[in-house]
Amino acid sequence: MSVIDRLVREARRRAAAFRGGQPAAPSLRVAVLTCMDARIDPAKLFGLAPGEAHVLRNAGGAVTADVRRSLVISQRLLGTRAIAVVRHTGCGMLGLDEALRDDLAAEVGEHADWQVHGFADLEGDLRAALAELRADRFLLHTDQIRGFVYDVEHTGRLTEVTEVTEDGGVTGDGGVTGDGGVTGDGGVTGDGGVTGDGGVSGQAEVSGRVEVADGGDADGLARGAA
Ligand SMILES: [Zn+2]
Repeated sequence: MSVIDRLVREARRRAAAFRGGQPAAPSLRVAVLTCMDARIDPAKLFGLAPGEAHVLRNAGGAVTADVRRSLVISQRLLGTRAIAVVRHTGCGMLGLDEALRDDLAAEVGEHADWQVHGFADLEGDLRAALAELRADRFLLHTDQIRGFVYDVEHTGRLTEVTEVTEDGGVTGDGGVTGDGGVTGDGGVTGDGGVTGDGGVSGQAEVSGRVEVADGGDADGLARGAA
């Protein structure tokens, strides 16, 4: 039996338990952009049920033209308001660059009509992706765009990547304030609370990272979007 036959068999079996009836508009009004990495299960990670969120995936969780298109549809036609971008440790796009396109062109005889979107700096590229989304004038809502690194290799934990502004503060919904507090929209809550490398105490120590305990972020996302 081919692998796709196996998938079809599973789908047939599971159809018996199917319960439809949900509207197409995501009830949590949130879109998640993440990598296609097989170790990431967005539904399990965030405790999402069918009908609750849009999930956009590609190699790397890159902000491509197609992702921006989908997010505009998501917000303008289907009512989502918040965007969570989830990158991860051990991503296959780490270390890749546009040289791959040239290698492929040498083999195939023409350049592909897409960019590779590889990166050398996981968090730096994530910050750039967040900035690109926040600057997207076609999006209706850019006030709840947050980025996370998911450790798929060792801990299963999410680490929020915040942006350090020129005055040394850290921005972002539910982000870390200058005095070390955690505020905002959706907040960062959950069993275990907020911990983190470098601590979240004071301007000097703000490392731009907030570790979110298991379950905490899903709650935050859900409340933030409600
Ligand atoms: Zn990846």
